Amino acid sequence: MREIKRILIANRGEIALRALRTIQEMGKEAVVVHSTADKDALYVKYADASICIGGARSSESYLHIPAIITACEISEADAIFPGYGFLSENQNFVEICEKHNIKFIGPSVEAMALMSDKSKAKQMMMRAGIPVVPGSDGAIKDMEMAKKLASEIGYPVIIKAAAGGGGRGMRVVEKEEDLEKSFWSAESEAMSAFGDGTMYMEKYISNPRHIEVQVLGDEYGNVIHVGERDCSMQRRHQKLIEESPAVILDDETRAQLHQTAVNAAKAIGYTGAGTFEFLYDQRDNKFYFIEMNTRLQVEHCVSEMCSGLDLIEWMIRISQGERLPEQKDIKLSGHSIECRITAEDPKSFTPNPGKITKYVAPGGRNVRMDSHVYEGYSVPPYYDSMIGKLIVHDIDRNRAIAKMKVALDELIIQGIKTTKDFHINMMNNDDFINNLYDTNYLAKH
Ligand code: ADP
Repeated sequence: MREIKRILIANRGEIALRALRTIQEMGKEAVVVHSTADKDALYVKYADASICIGGARSSESYLHIPAIITACEISEADAIFPGYGFLSENQNFVEICEKHNIKFIGPSVEAMALMSDKSKAKQMMMRAGIPVVPGSDGAIKDMEMAKKLASEIGYPVIIKAAAGGGGRGMRVVEKEEDLEKSFWSAESEAMSAFGDGTMYMEKYISNPRHIEVQVLGDEYGNVIHVGERDCSMQRRHQKLIEESPAVILDDETRAQLHQTAVNAAKAIGYTGAGTFEFLYDQRDNKFYFIEMNTRLQVEHCVSEMCSGLDLIEWMIRISQGERLPEQKDIKLSGHSIECRITAEDPKSFTPNPGKITKYVAPGGRNVRMDSHVYEGYSVPPYYDSMIGKLIVHDIDRNRAIAKMKVALDELIIQGIKTTKDFHINMMNNDDFINNLYDTNYLAKH
């Protein structure tokens, strides 16, 4: 085992605080880097050391590789925890870390490279015998090819960015007349969001559920899964509520899905924490791989609540060369739900940064508020508007919903608008309660 002693957290917000806690619980030191806009963040106060690495804009701080590497050298950190977003899936960054003898707490650059182009990842999965959504074999080269493909696949189709993430660079096309316009607008959105306009095409599955499997792989070829998550409550292809398990699945399909994800991770020699995302078609009980995220996800907490594992602890332990427990030792129980609380108007979802004048976090048995905010904290306008995640766990889904309602009622955030009321509405919504929804639910209602 190569013991990691000091870890630099190359992120901000709730995930920086979440990671800091685990690092300190493990008896290690946590170094945080922050922008000028985040100087008053809680994790800056709690860290063993903190370094301001630049201006408010992400490009000057959280995406500024030389500043982060320098901070590592100054603080003598021996590893970097990347969190999600920012540099967490940046192969160049991983290579630079390696060159500087800094352990990147995540997969190898090779595994990351294999999954980073979503269209190539699908081809790779197909070769490994994993079911994928029918679609283009690789990138779309021109409009002629796009038209031909779409008519072969059959409308509706979805045009997606190979470098995509966060629901951007994606367009559903219902009929051929709309193809050209949608293609160009998706491509230009992808170009400006990811600096890469490579597009691919898929059959548009109507009314699917988004179900994903959490996996962990170690350096000895062992891969285990930590159950699945249902992330079908989405707005514009972005997740708002996540739960585990996905109660829509029967036991046999669930077991197949888990095994498929484990096989897929083994096929690419995956190490660390990763997620295989699938679309599940309830009408014919089939699931299709859409992409793999080679990092920790926002919604990892629901898997932690059902398994009792600390996924960040395991990411660190894997990076130290430790072995994973066996699958039979992972016991999944009960039901967990997570509501993403964002500083946004609960109806229009427009961002609403500003100063929090009153803050009371909910509590009680199996209620978890992962948030970096506090009374008097100002939510900066420069970053993602998520200010916390409220997570509950109980013996079954109905009890978890009941617990979430009480927890949401207890949560007080004043001074800024938040999506708390949206979540209260959802917890009282009959379709949600009866599990009768899919990824298009909010668009339709
Ligand atoms: P991103 O990386 O931007 O999150 P994903 O490929 O993970 O993109 O897809 C995000 C969401 O978009 C899915 O959860 C689903 O709601 C929708 N989606 C993606 N591909 C399809 C498809 N082929 N058919 C129907 N919906 C899709």
